[in-house]
Amino acid sequence: MKKNQVLKTNIMISIILVLGFMVTAAFSYSANYQASLDNIEKVSSLTAESIYYQITTMFTKPVNISITMAHDSFLIDHISMENEHLEDDEYVDTLKDYLNAYQEKYGFDSVFLVSTASGRYYNFNGLDRILSEGNPENEWYYNFLDSASEYTLVVDNDEVAGADNAITVFVNCRIQNQAGEVIGVVGVGIRIDSLTQLLTGYGEDYHLDVSLINKSGRIEISPHYTGYEAVDWFEVYDNETIRIQVLNWEDGEHSLELWTGAKKSRDKSFIVSRYIPELSWHLVVEQNTGALISDMTQKLYMTAVLILIVILIVLFVITSVIRNFNRQITRLMEERQEVFKRATEQLYDNIYELNITRNCTAGKRTEQYFESLGAKDLPYDQGLKVIASKQIKEEFREGYVNTFNPANVTREYDHGNNHLRYDFKITQDGENYHWMRIDAYIFYSTEDNCLHMFTYRKNIDDEKARELKASMDGMTGLLSKTATEEYIRKILSEKPDELYAFFIFDIDNFKQVNDRFGHAFGDQCIREFASIIRSYFRSGDIVGRIGGDEFAVFIPVPDAQWAENKARALKDALNMTCSDNHCPDVKWQLSASMGVAFYPSAGTGFTDLYRAADSALYDTKKRGKNGYTIFG
Ligand code: GH3
Ligand code: MG
Repeated sequence: MKKNQVLKTNIMISIILVLGFMVTAAFSYSANYQASLDNIEKVSSLTAESIYYQITTMFTKPVNISITMAHDSFLIDHISMENEHLEDDEYVDTLKDYLNAYQEKYGFDSVFLVSTASGRYYNFNGLDRILSEGNPENEWYYNFLDSASEYTLVVDNDEVAGADNAITVFVNCRIQNQAGEVIGVVGVGIRIDSLTQLLTGYGEDYHLDVSLINKSGRIEISPHYTGYEAVDWFEVYDNETIRIQVLNWEDGEHSLELWTGAKKSRDKSFIVSRYIPELSWHLVVEQNTGALISDMTQKLYMTAVLILIVILIVLFVITSVIRNFNRQITRLMEERQEVFKRATEQLYDNIYELNITRNCTAGKRTEQYFESLGAKDLPYDQGLKVIASKQIKEEFREGYVNTFNPANVTREYDHGNNHLRYDFKITQDGENYHWMRIDAYIFYSTEDNCLHMFTYRKNIDDEKARELKASMDGMTGLLSKTATEEYIRKILSEKPDELYAFFIFDIDNFKQVNDRFGHAFGDQCIREFASIIRSYFRSGDIVGRIGGDEFAVFIPVPDAQWAENKARALKDALNMTCSDNHCPDVKWQLSASMGVAFYPSAGTGFTDLYRAADSALYDTKKRGKNGYTIFG
């Protein structure tokens, strides 16, 4: 596998992993987000409920105690008598003891009493100060007197000496005499530290903000603000749109639950608001999704980093496995190629490679071979002709060039044939020829998108000699009858467009030779007769003995006249005396009868041509022998 294929594989795996991760992450993110929203709703709702009950429990006692004190007849009577005891320490001590007893019994941070007549402010220490109108610190008192409520809760700093101005929730409760006139205000104070701690604890545990706000929206108690600072909750939390909804919700039994912010926005808040009738305050629990989103986003990034690391590890492993595998495959292939090369080299003398598409040599050895024949810079088809003219025997040149030229190679490959073979005679020294066979294999190379051809050259001298022997008539050295027929069929299939002449020769009255001089002399006559025929034709021509005293020649001819001239010359040449060298008396005047038929006029197949020539021969015999007849 090549480098870019490893790269492709890696990219594909990365894409699959990244896509898989993205889809999984998207699903899990969406599911987690929804679950978290549900969780926010439940947690906020439960928190509001729980705080509500704790606050009501926390404030029920001080409110009840304050109301009890406000209705205590001893206290009512005692205040009613204040005017007469303004300078009386004992009077003050009695009040002090009274308030002190409550303070100690219930552990309040403050227990106080204000007389409306004198404006005197008493607490468990005795007389603390006198409240005067116009002092902003005393506003709570005058506001309460102006209101119609039986009691009220106010968050304020405790100005009592020794209280260090600690922020305190005061329960103020009016005292009325039997005539219904307000004669004083009694109440208790609880430092809000514990309440703030309660709210802070919930806030920290469940990641939400809990505030107690009054009817006008001002924060009375929250982990960050107190009523003393007079901060508006709706401004702080940027939730002006729900002000009316929250402040108008005075159902003491149920909570108001709503989402604020754009519906699809990821940064929104869930609000649970509960009205606390005892305090006339609203408990507001706010949980923002911002923290959740950033938490989830952070987890998403962490997962992404982890996945990235996993991808890198996977890629590294895959790359090394593929590389290792490739190395093994390459080594195996090289080993096999080496074995194959050695085996091929033993079988063939030379192997050359040609690039057919580009019409040039491929490979160093081929180039060197072309160079050695002076065809270095020539295109392959030109070089082929140079090789043919320099090394190949004349009669094979045309066949050689026609077989291996690029046009023919391409044509054969296009017709589904990837193997070409050509047997020919070749010379190295310009004199001695030997038989050579080229087996050419054509293949398409994806390396360069070209048609290539390997030519395997092999010396087939021995093979040809064996073939020749098998196809030869032992007595005359001419072709056997079978070989003659085979060659004729072959040449007709290879070059069917030429004019051919089929000659048949038969020795006249040959039986008599045998009868009179014996078979040995007969054989000698046959050999002499054959050699004369042979000498009249070229070495490549088909000349065979097809019967006891019967011979055939098949050759391409320029025209019929040429063939007839040949027949006439042969008739004369074959009319000769055959004599025995050892025995001068043994002589025989030989003559031949001939028949000639032409291809294609007399027939297009071997059988038809043979029959036609034989019939012409028969005519010659009939006419008195020693002559020739042209068929038709
Ligand atoms: P025709 O003029 O009609 O051809 O008469 P022919 O006597 O030549 O008779 P034909 O051609 O029919 O017979 C050929 C003879 O050749 C028959 C056979 O005895 C003889 N013959 C065939 N083969 C051999 C051979 O190998 N050696 C010898 N010596 N004679 C052979
Ligand atoms: Mg004969």
